[in-house]
Amino acid sequence: MKRLRNAKLVATLGPASSDRDTIRALFEAGADVFRLNFSHGSHTDHKARLELIRAMERELGRPIGVLADLQGPKLRVGRFADGPVKLVEGAAFRLDLDIERPGDITRIAMPHPEIFRALVAHTDLLLDDGRIRLRVERCGADFAETQVVAGGHLSDRKGVNVPGVVVPLSALTEKDRADLDYALGLGVDWVALSFVQRPEDIVEIKDIVKGRAGIVAKLEKPAAISSLDAIVAEADAIMVARGDLGVEMPPEKVPAIQKRIVRACRKAGKPVIVATQMLESMVNAPVPTRAEASDVATAIYDGADAVMLSAESASGKYPLEAVRMMDRIIARTESDPYYRDAIDASRTPPQQDRADAIGAAVGFVSGILYVAATVAYTNSGYSALRLARERPQAPILGMTPRRATARRLALAWGVHAVLCHDVTSVSEMTELACDTARKEGYGQPGETVVIAAGMPFGASGNTNLFRIAQIE
Ligand code: PGA
Ligand code: MN
Repeated sequence: MKRLRNAKLVATLGPASSDRDTIRALFEAGADVFRLNFSHGSHTDHKARLELIRAMERELGRPIGVLADLQGPKLRVGRFADGPVKLVEGAAFRLDLDIERPGDITRIAMPHPEIFRALVAHTDLLLDDGRIRLRVERCGADFAETQVVAGGHLSDRKGVNVPGVVVPLSALTEKDRADLDYALGLGVDWVALSFVQRPEDIVEIKDIVKGRAGIVAKLEKPAAISSLDAIVAEADAIMVARGDLGVEMPPEKVPAIQKRIVRACRKAGKPVIVATQMLESMVNAPVPTRAEASDVATAIYDGADAVMLSAESASGKYPLEAVRMMDRIIARTESDPYYRDAIDASRTPPQQDRADAIGAAVGFVSGILYVAATVAYTNSGYSALRLARERPQAPILGMTPRRATARRLALAWGVHAVLCHDVTSVSEMTELACDTARKEGYGQPGETVVIAAGMPFGASGNTNLFRIAQIE
């Protein structure tokens, strides 16, 4: 099974997409990576989804990436007694610590004592991605009496942002540590850390993860944008988490920040995911707005590695239609001749690194010879990522003897990952690369493939070999 596009699609699983047939349909429609959102659902819900994904992977013989997204210090309200309430402008609404008591039209729990301690009168609280604004009138150690400034429907467990207050919280909460432990036990491929503020936040989680999964830093705080390059250097991948970013910062700043983050990641050769509200209206409708279609296309023209669906695939009415639509927008955008111009124009020169030198050579050779496919024989995935950094015209095969690497590469731009056996010699590796290109439908006998690899085989991060070969 081969995708006819380069950028990848991340689909969040949730109540609307947890049965075997739906997950399979989402994969066939284009989902390359499945996101398990630890902000919602129980451990057993996530385990059941992961088992369905792995069973499907075995059946279809294609590596599939799984990303566990940790909630981080995200503030949320509790649950309501009788479903959503409608808050109207001017009304009084109270927040307190009483998590045992279901909410109603007059109050709701917000189980975060540190926030009540940090609040002062006249602070604004933004709920449900900024749709609802409450102004604090009076507050104490365990309550806040607010007035509704901008009303709307508020439902269970919606997020709360307090942009005006510096919240003294670490990026890994107790819940995150327990979730992380569980997710690593399940064998997820990527772990996303929310509300990263400093590169040290990444170091902290890396010390726990110890290479068992790749680390995605979610950029959704103004502080993270101030340390952008240092965070990109520390993380394995980045998510432009526009939901919270657009609440913590004025929305008009988000597009430029998105482009800046994508540029920084492409320069560093780290996968970057553009996320949130990409096809938001498809939560309730089978077609997106024109603006949403254009938003997905913009991320693709910028050269993002992946675009993501959240509620659209997790809890919306049209999960499958959303994946299909996103897949079509990506493919169509990439077939626009201007796409290639845009990608080439935003490419940065290779860095002083052997893998980059080889990646650039592969790109250069593809411009001279007709190259059916480029192949990275890779242990850690590094050679494949450096090839992807070049955004070559010819497809990239990421051949690896490590299952974990094959799955992780599901997130990388243009990489078609293939699990293979260990090789011992260059000739064996070359033969396997040509064979794989042919079998996977990327080349015909007589056509040329170019190969990047590292000798000795089996070690990581030692790209030093570049070979031009012909499919027999
Ligand atoms: P979330 O992160 O969906 O976990 O909040 C993404 C975002 O904030 O955009
Ligand atoms: Mn977020």
